[in-house]
Amino acid sequence: MSNASNTLRLMCVHAHPDDESSKGAATMARYVREGVEVLVVTCTGGERGDVLNPKMDRPEVQENLPRIRTEEMNRAREILGVRQHWLGFTDSGLPEGWLPDSGIALPDDAFYLVPTEKAAAPLVEIMRSFKPHVVTTYDEEGGYPHPDHVKTHEISVAAFRAAGDPEQYPDRGEAWRPSKLYYGHGFGKARVEALHQAMVDAGLESPYGDWLAGDQDWARDKSGRVTTRVECADYFHIRDEALKAHATQVDPDGFWFAVPREIQQKAWPTEDYELVESSVASRLPEDDLFAGLR
Ligand SMILES: [Zn+2]
Repeated sequence: MSNASNTLRLMCVHAHPDDESSKGAATMARYVREGVEVLVVTCTGGERGDVLNPKMDRPEVQENLPRIRTEEMNRAREILGVRQHWLGFTDSGLPEGWLPDSGIALPDDAFYLVPTEKAAAPLVEIMRSFKPHVVTTYDEEGGYPHPDHVKTHEISVAAFRAAGDPEQYPDRGEAWRPSKLYYGHGFGKARVEALHQAMVDAGLESPYGDWLAGDQDWARDKSGRVTTRVECADYFHIRDEALKAHATQVDPDGFWFAVPREIQQKAWPTEDYELVESSVASRLPEDDLFAGLR
């Protein structure tokens, strides 16, 4: 990979193909168009995902799901303008009721079951070759409790800390220390409430009513942890196109697209992050993942 010394680089680590388009995609689209090199790392192939779009739920799609999800990822990558790297682990699936301490068994080849030190090794290697200044991943709960999301968090933090240390993973390339690590907080309750209220105010039916009324522990408000809001409303259309490229996973007439884009742009024009580790000085709150690096 080419690494011009004056180019800023962003690495976004995700669990499955489609996560890059539903979490932080407008941020990536903005930075790509501002000249930042962006690499998406996808930990698993999404092999155990279901077909979530009724319009795509056909036997020939089911039979070829891994190949089709690869093609969908390629299309999303082109739309976003990013590069993308498969880490090669196998989707753990999401057994009903699974939580980290639930004792519910996962398949033997599940990404979640690979020891973190081992699973972080190929991520350290790609960090050392791509040399990102900024890395984004999920918070310690995975953003939501899917085993692959929790594991993605664990290996991202481990690799971020190890990549700059030549003593660790010495056979995985020359040490490179990324400067900043962020957790994405795209589904914070404050945002959902703002979108819900904007829909109600516009006289439209909000898709979030049940969600807000329910007791979604994982959706509890993490707004207090947000340090960095990246303005990216002008790029929501690119995010939406990338998400639609994952046609087996996303119903274009479903939940994801129930709030008109103009309402989203007004009600919540940012994607939000939590700065968790940094070796550069920047003043909080930030409006740029590269604050302190420019
Ligand atoms: Zn996922």
